[in-house]
Amino acid sequence: MARQFRAAGHEIVTSADLADMAVVNTCAVTNEAAADSRAKIRKIGRAGVNEIIATGCWSTLQPQQAGELPNVLRVVTNDRKDQLVADLFDLPGEAFDLEPIAREPLPGLHRRTRAFIKVQDGCDNHCTFCVTTIARGEGRSRTVADVILDIQSALMGGTKEIVLTGVHLGSWGQDLSTSLKAGSMHLRDLVKTILRETDVPRLRLSSLEPWDLDADFFSLWGDERLLPHLHLPLQSGCESTLRRMARKTTPQSFRELVSAAREVMPEVAITTDIIAGFPGETEAEFAESLEFLREMNFAGGHVFTYSPRPGTGAARMKGQLKPEIRKKRNHILHDVLEASASAYRQTFVGRTMSVLWESTSEMGEWGWQMEGLTENYLRVNAFTPSPRWNEIDPVKISGHERGSMSGVILNMG
Ligand code: SF4
Repeated sequence: MARQFRAAGHEIVTSADLADMAVVNTCAVTNEAAADSRAKIRKIGRAGVNEIIATGCWSTLQPQQAGELPNVLRVVTNDRKDQLVADLFDLPGEAFDLEPIAREPLPGLHRRTRAFIKVQDGCDNHCTFCVTTIARGEGRSRTVADVILDIQSALMGGTKEIVLTGVHLGSWGQDLSTSLKAGSMHLRDLVKTILRETDVPRLRLSSLEPWDLDADFFSLWGDERLLPHLHLPLQSGCESTLRRMARKTTPQSFRELVSAAREVMPEVAITTDIIAGFPGETEAEFAESLEFLREMNFAGGHVFTYSPRPGTGAARMKGQLKPEIRKKRNHILHDVLEASASAYRQTFVGRTMSVLWESTSEMGEWGWQMEGLTENYLRVNAFTPSPRWNEIDPVKISGHERGSMSGVILNMG
């Protein structure tokens, strides 16, 4: 969108008080996310922006409420999001085909060393807790050529790491066919093509649903530019809860997938998402889930406290748990995840890892404090005499504390 605004002759500014217009991409994944989206719109209005465009999932689900918030000029639902800029200024959609290929970095906080390239949108599944299918519609994939073009443009703009994203990334290609072989395409075809046709130094995959992968998928990691990090949302480690969630996986198949990945990449970071307090979850089911979480030894992850999303199957289920039980289970799950994450981080202390620096802050006589990510998604801090934003350096890890590792850059001369 930023590129399209620029191509239409507008300037992207760093903060709301400098802006004439703001686009707020709202979220509806939890009640909290929806409330944050509304708060953000109000805050931007108070900063003096008179023309706010609300888009994204919450605005799509609650267009009237979104339209009634102060200074909201227009609500753009997800199905028109790609044409948002063209619609706003009454431009033909193809106007942007003419824009220069180079991706200019965004000013201020949004300067990114990693480019998030969305290759897919929507989802054909119906997990009972999820509003995505309602908010985003059916799954659809961007073509290989389109994705490659976007990646080339990001690389020309200096990006060092490409992250492939999608609402249901692992389903990429199911709606695309190829003349080269029968049937539809698979994410592995896209990854192979990107690795073959671009010089991307680092390629990362975002969240992948476990049922979209098989053991053979991990052979892709023979190319070291594909980073050893897999985010596999588990949501529950209990078979009956997974069934009520309508997830197409079981603890056993998840276990087999994780061990296949670890066989190919023994030190791969496997992170996850898990829901605390799903409707009807008994103490025994919770204990089963917890045990499985321990067994998986995840390198990190997020625990979401269940909140009923209007229109979903789970919101209508009997046995909604009291908020205090959901919260308590969240804390327990969180502690287990944190313990395995900390043990994972510990295994890298004393080792040399390659870090892409994402942020820099000047610290007076200390020089510059740099923060960045390793290939396996560990956050690392180090001090340098001069800023090294967007550089990849070898770093000897000296310790870790509160989720972040510290280290010393090697070969600094
Ligand atoms: S697969 Fe993911 S996006 Fe699709 S319905 Fe399930 S949780 Fe939602």
